Amino acid sequence: QAKAAGRNTFQFFTKSMNETVSRRMHIEQALRQAIKRQEFILHYQPVVSLDTGEIIGAEALIRWQHPDKGLIYPDSFIEIAEEAGLIEPIGQWVIEQACTDLRLWHDLGMKIQVAVNVSSRQCKQTSQTPIKDIIKKALKVNNISPSSLKVEITESSLMDNSEEMMTTLQDIRSLGVAIYMDDFGTGYSSLSYLKHFPIDVMKIDRSFIAGSIDDKTDASLVEAVVLIGHSLSLKLVGEGIETKQHYDYLRSLGCDYGQGYFISKPIESTALIALCQHVDNPPKWSS
Ligand code: C2E
Ligand code: MG
Ligand code: MG
Ligand code: MG
Repeated sequence: QAKAAGRNTFQFFTKSMNETVSRRMHIEQALRQAIKRQEFILHYQPVVSLDTGEIIGAEALIRWQHPDKGLIYPDSFIEIAEEAGLIEPIGQWVIEQACTDLRLWHDLGMKIQVAVNVSSRQCKQTSQTPIKDIIKKALKVNNISPSSLKVEITESSLMDNSEEMMTTLQDIRSLGVAIYMDDFGTGYSSLSYLKHFPIDVMKIDRSFIAGSIDDKTDASLVEAVVLIGHSLSLKLVGEGIETKQHYDYLRSLGCDYGQGYFISKPIESTALIALCQHVDNPPKWSS
């Protein structure tokens, strides 16, 4: 049977594998160019206090402005950048750009914080410039208080290299920068991570929020996560709030903060400034 299909199967796999490999190499090459030509941009998604509705911060989300292909989202290139060893320069740019934008916002009188996503490969102790030094310098250059910057790390990256991550997260935290655990609930060992790592805030993954209205299990999990977080003296962010129902539900549970399309999609810095300057009191999403 295997023999009968053998030859064709082999050719099929070889061809598609080659295509995948060459496609990756092409993207890698394009990414190297993108770094040189500064083709990246940050969009910011507002994070609000569910209690007051006020915008307290924003999450920086990278996009690639490809000269031919238009805006490319991170799910299509971050993993390739990581594997190609390009996430360090890209990640450094993200931290520096977010701090530059934050400086401008503060100069305009906006009282907000910024959260940047960091992948495990940016956290190597052997990096030429350790991430702690990159952060420290970006804060200093822009005269920003460390309490205005947050670092988001996913559960799966805690799994990658626990020892090294532990040291790096402690280094970052010793600067006064808080650590957010992103996509909480989607990893494998969430609870033991909470015990071992220096986490300040948990972000409840949007898959649970999406299910919480119709699915009893998702609702129970969201409620349990809020209780666990609060009993550990952590703050909680609900991700992926798409409807008023999601918003009201999380608010009723005492979840501290929220973000999602219902409040705002990720937007350019200029649009965030406009939003903050024209926000009603109370804002439309909380009334
Ligand atoms: P994340 O950190 O969990 O970011 C949230 C993602 O959910 C964003 O997708 C955001 O646009 C999307 N989102 C927000 N609200 C809603 C909603 O109400 N409904 C739905 N369906 N989606 C919503 P995005 O921008 O495509 O980013 C995807 C992931 O890429 C991020 O997930 C993060 O893990 C990663 N990423 C983004 N920027 C960076 C970066 O600068 N560095 C690294 N290492 N990773 C990044
Ligand atoms: Mg995030
Ligand atoms: Mg997330
Ligand atoms: Mg995610």
